[in-house]
Amino acid sequence: MKFVDEFRDPLAARGLLREIEAATQRLGATPAKPLQVMEVCGGHTHSIFRYALKDLIPPALEFVHGPGCPVCVLPMGRVDDCIAIAREPNVIFTTFGDAMRVPGSRSSLLQARAEGADIRMVYSPLDALELAARNPDKRVVFFALGFETTMPTTAMTVLEAERRGIGNFALFCNHITIMPTMKAILDEPDLRIDGFIGPGHVATVMGLAPFEYLVHAYKKPLVISGFEPTDILQSLLMVLRQLEEGPEQARVENQYSRLVNADGNRVALQAIERVFELRDTFEWRGLGMIDHSGVRMREAYARFDAERIFEVPGVSVSDPENCQCGEVLKGVLKPPQCKAFGTLCTPQTPLGALMVSSEGACAAYYQFARGGREVPVQMPTPTHGKQLEVKA
Ligand code: SF4
Repeated sequence: MKFVDEFRDPLAARGLLREIEAATQRLGATPAKPLQVMEVCGGHTHSIFRYALKDLIPPALEFVHGPGCPVCVLPMGRVDDCIAIAREPNVIFTTFGDAMRVPGSRSSLLQARAEGADIRMVYSPLDALELAARNPDKRVVFFALGFETTMPTTAMTVLEAERRGIGNFALFCNHITIMPTMKAILDEPDLRIDGFIGPGHVATVMGLAPFEYLVHAYKKPLVISGFEPTDILQSLLMVLRQLEEGPEQARVENQYSRLVNADGNRVALQAIERVFELRDTFEWRGLGMIDHSGVRMREAYARFDAERIFEVPGVSVSDPENCQCGEVLKGVLKPPQCKAFGTLCTPQTPLGALMVSSEGACAAYYQFARGGREVPVQMPTPTHGKQLEVKA
C-alpha cells in the first residue's frame, strides 16, 4: 500500500537500527545509564509497542512514554462532571467510544448509560450536531476531548451550529494543549529526558514554531515524527545525531514533512482562535494543575458551553489508592511496575485511564508486550541481541 508499506520496510528499519546502535555507542550510553527519549504522543506509544520497537533498539537507549493520550490524562473529576451532565433531564450526551470506559470516582459513562442516562457514541462532533438538529426538544452535549489535533473539528462544529442556528447543541470542553505540559515534565526534578520524539498530529495543526521555545530554553532536541515504525526509528536517529552535536545545537526538526509544514494549518488555527481561549489552569490526571494547559469557549460562544449551561460539580478527585498512573505518565515508572498492572487493572477492568485507550501506555504494554497479539509486520533482527519473541 503506497505511503504505508515503504514506512514498514524491514530493510530500511534494519539500516536505521544499525545507525542508532552506532550513535548510541558514540554517545557513551550504557544499559546502566541509558539515554532516555520521550515519545510525547500516545499514537507513537502504540506504534512502539505494536512493532516491538522498544525491544529492537539498543539496551542503552530507552523510550519514555509521555502524556500525549488525551483520554489517559483526563482526571476522574471531569468524568464525574460528564456523568452529572448526562443525567440532566432532556440531555443526550455524546462521546467518542474510547471515553466510555474511563473510570470516574464512582462509575463510568458506560455504567451511567446502563443506569438509564441517554449517552450515545459518535464518530465526530458533526454527528452530535446532526443529532441536535433531529432532536430540537433535547439538549445534545458533545464531550470535546483531545489536544490541538481535535480542537479544529470541534471549533468548526460550533461555528457550523451558529451558522445553521442550532441552539440546542453544546460542548463540554476538555481540550488540552501539549506545550505547557511538556514544559511541566521538563521541570520535574526526578525525571531526566535527553530528547523528544514530537507529536506529529499536533504539529500538523500547529506547525513547528510553538516547539521552538521549549527546545531553546531547555536545550533538548525535538523531532516531529510520523507514526510508522521507520518514521519513529528515523526520528530517534535524528534525536541522537543532535545529541552528538551538543546541547547548543538542539533544535526542532521535522521528520514528518510529508504531512507537517512549518506554519501548520492556517484554517484550523483560525477556527481554534475564534472559538477557544486559554484557561488559567487545567487539571491533568497524575500531573496535577498545569497553567494554561487547557482551553475553554470564548464568551461569544457561551450559549454553546455546557459548563455555563449546567451546574457542573467541578470537584477534583484523587486517583484510587493502588493507581500509579501519575508516575507512569511522568515516565518515572514503566507500566508493569505499577502494583495494579495486570491484576487489579486490566483492559477489561481498568483502574486507571492508561489502561482504557489503545494509546495508553499500560493498555499498549498489556496488549503487545504481555501475552498480546502477534506483531503484524516482520521487523528485523536487532543487531544487539535476540529477536523479540512475541507470544500469541
Ligand atoms: S496499571 Fe492501571 S492503575 Fe497502574 S498505571 Fe496503568 S492504568 Fe494506572
